[in-house]
Amino acid sequence: MQTQAYAAFDATSPLVPHTIDRRETGANDIQIEILFCGVCHSDIHQVKNEWNGTTYPIVPGHEVVGKVTQIGTAVTRYQLGDILGVGCFVDSCRTCNPCKEGEENFCEGAVTWTYNSKPAGASLPTYGGYSKLMVVDEQYALRVDPNMDLSRVAPLLCAGITTYSPLKHWKVGKGTKLAVLGLGGLGHMAVKFGVAFGAEVTVLSSSDKKHDDALELGAKYFVNYNKVGESDCFKNYFDLIIDSVSAPHDLNFFLSLLGKDGTVVLLGIPPTNVDFNHRSVISKRRSLSGSSIGGTKETQEMLDYCAANNIYSDVEVISLSEINTAYERMLNNDVKYRFVIDLNR
Ligand SMILES: [Zn+2]
Ligand SMILES: [Zn+2]
Repeated sequence: MQTQAYAAFDATSPLVPHTIDRRETGANDIQIEILFCGVCHSDIHQVKNEWNGTTYPIVPGHEVVGKVTQIGTAVTRYQLGDILGVGCFVDSCRTCNPCKEGEENFCEGAVTWTYNSKPAGASLPTYGGYSKLMVVDEQYALRVDPNMDLSRVAPLLCAGITTYSPLKHWKVGKGTKLAVLGLGGLGHMAVKFGVAFGAEVTVLSSSDKKHDDALELGAKYFVNYNKVGESDCFKNYFDLIIDSVSAPHDLNFFLSLLGKDGTVVLLGIPPTNVDFNHRSVISKRRSLSGSSIGGTKETQEMLDYCAANNIYSDVEVISLSEINTAYERMLNNDVKYRFVIDLNR
């Protein structure tokens, strides 16, 4: 079946309207009419082939919220008209231990990403949410409370779960001294969740520009780490630093802000490896770790938590035809904090 989308045909040209094929709705599939799709930085990385391995044409988008318009004969979880979300992946091996535990994001076999993936045996590559329709296996869809503000739900499917998951894993709660490095799409969600979980939140930023925004989001402290002396009283201070920055930066410095047994969690992927001094972790038994999105089980938990606690991403809604301008603005750091495409605009 054919549907309208926006696609990039090479690494340097703007995205253009394009008609794509979607598979027919199989027994375990649901077809959704896409209502909103968030615009993630990894969309740009892959459109520009910065991680290599991009197949063109590419239709990005992995922060999808839509309405069920068709269900397969064996579908049990969803009904016509239900609102649901699709995140970064749409299938996995289903047999490894992480998959069995609902942590498909750590699948040891093959993960089928929501776009730019070609599962074995499939005739079509996967295309993402910059389109009107999508077909997905019901096991990889998430339930969304229809009473939520759906444009602001879309970014929860990537930016939300990517920050929620490590905060849960490292048991952030009352009394935790949490720092968030970088205040963008990921960082602003880390601050919101940290505040909601009762932690003391500090935003670490490279300039003074985001001072007021950080405090408005609920951070207690704001540190411009490029200002001489400003971070001095935060040496050996934090329990956890959520590092959402994907530009190269000095890990040894941020490790030095951790107290005993503290952890820096990497979420961003810089284009080149960065230096790191063993002493940074040997001293004070600190840890350097990382985290990657979240599985279906935890993503559902996160969506339910957001519905119950009124937590949303802060977004600027655009039409699909504005996507190229949105990319330019994102590259200039000019968005608070996520663009979301309204497919009916
Ligand atoms: Zn993403
Ligand atoms: Zn697996």
